[in-house]
Amino acid sequence: MTTAATKSKASHLIPGATGDWEVVIGLEVHAQVASNAKLFSGSSTAFGAEPNSHVSLVDAAMPGMLPVINKECVAQAIRTGLGLKSQINLRSIFDRKNYFYPDLPQGYQISQFKHPIVGEGEIEIDADGETLMVGVERLHLEQDAGKSLHDQHPDYSYVDLNRSGVALMEIVSKPDMRSSKQAQAYVTKLRTILRYLGTCDGDMEKGNLRADVNVSVRKPGSPLGTRCEIKNVNSIRFIGQAIEVEARRQIDILEAGGKIDQETRLYDSARGETRSMRSKEEAHDYRYFPDPDLLPLEFTQNYVDQLKASLPELPDEKRARFVEAYGLSTYDAAVLVAEHTSADYFEAVAKGRDGKLAANWVNNELFGRLNKQGLDITDSPMSAAQLGAIVDLIASNAISGKIAKDLFEIVWSEGGDPAQIVESRGMKQVTDTGAIEKAVDDIIAANPDKVEQAKAKPSMLGWFVGQVMKSTGGKANPAAVNDVLRAKLGL
Ligand code: ADP
Ligand code: MG
Repeated sequence: MTTAATKSKASHLIPGATGDWEVVIGLEVHAQVASNAKLFSGSSTAFGAEPNSHVSLVDAAMPGMLPVINKECVAQAIRTGLGLKSQINLRSIFDRKNYFYPDLPQGYQISQFKHPIVGEGEIEIDADGETLMVGVERLHLEQDAGKSLHDQHPDYSYVDLNRSGVALMEIVSKPDMRSSKQAQAYVTKLRTILRYLGTCDGDMEKGNLRADVNVSVRKPGSPLGTRCEIKNVNSIRFIGQAIEVEARRQIDILEAGGKIDQETRLYDSARGETRSMRSKEEAHDYRYFPDPDLLPLEFTQNYVDQLKASLPELPDEKRARFVEAYGLSTYDAAVLVAEHTSADYFEAVAKGRDGKLAANWVNNELFGRLNKQGLDITDSPMSAAQLGAIVDLIASNAISGKIAKDLFEIVWSEGGDPAQIVESRGMKQVTDTGAIEKAVDDIIAANPDKVEQAKAKPSMLGWFVGQVMKSTGGKANPAAVNDVLRAKLGL
């Protein structure tokens, strides 16, 4: 496998006073499994519920309660592993990770340590103008903890156990990334894949996807430097910022002759700095051991194959198909497949039509309009059928590109059938040469001086075209106007 490590280029180096430094990044992403019920109990995972309303006796760690594995969460982890082109382990083990925290009533988290459900895989990313593979080390299943609430009362803290026991997938990358852009592209791509698979909704604002960001720096070619882990970064923008400031901090220390202490840090986005949370010396000894309440997790290759057969088309394959089937540029195709909802929309517009024209209208006009109004494509006021009808009118020369933009505005804000609107509002392009000749004659008659000038200076033609377009309300077919003008002006 080609990794970023073998492909890294000088452009990823941060120039320092005493030479260039290379940043090395590895990510541990926690993705909440899309599932109605928790990993070991039947409680609901619904977001935003009344505190402690989705807590079973298992989630509250009542003595004697036994965890029962949720098959759907296991299937989701396998699907994700397959989507990440990873090794699926037919036998894995749940371990107890022991620590004390008020929002962890069991006194341990059930996780997977030495034998995770998913092993090595890879994710293809595009960043810094190149395509590269980032290695995935592993994916394991684990429980989420509850949540401590400190701002409800001046004297007390509260605990909400709704999240306690919710299934998480921890997806650990290899230290293969060499720039903040690559790390951002990795998380973006991972989120896209999870959404395609339907195994995690990827909603970072709700905390359903969060990343621990490991950063070290080194002189290229040297062994890996000591890393710091920045915990729980919850937006793609902050991941980029945290890496930049943390790399800078480490370089400054090393250039001043100091050394990096391996530690866990927090990114403070308000101050734009990382702060120490705990050092390696204080790091927990989790005393992992196999959970005696749970048997090893085992399933057959046949089961994995069934899940594999039902996977949807994934973004890389979809992009390749769009390039091939619709003649799109890789860039346009990549924009369209970033969300499967926009890819579906595009295909509904492109079906039976000119793919490139459809892609232009979706990527430029539609996405531009959606972004401007902060709307998701699933909330688009214009349906794929309506945009398709606009594309048809352009393709058949019924309307000009300029009129098409006006039509887009009308359909966007008022709705309706594009073809009917063109008909009823007289927006049809005038290709009838008789009508165009009349308009040209009028302009020529009104501007004898300009006609003289144009004979000496043929570039004046543009001015005449503009006049004719204006007098026809933009509806004249520009090619026809050009032809008629050239003939009449003798150019
Ligand atoms: P732990 O489980 O103690 O956090 P791991 O070895 O599993 O440690 O690594 C966790 C993450 O740190 C992985 O994503 C890995 O790629 C990354 N990582 C390991 N070494 C480095 C390093 N020197 N610089 C940057 N990232 C690193
Ligand atoms: Mg870690």
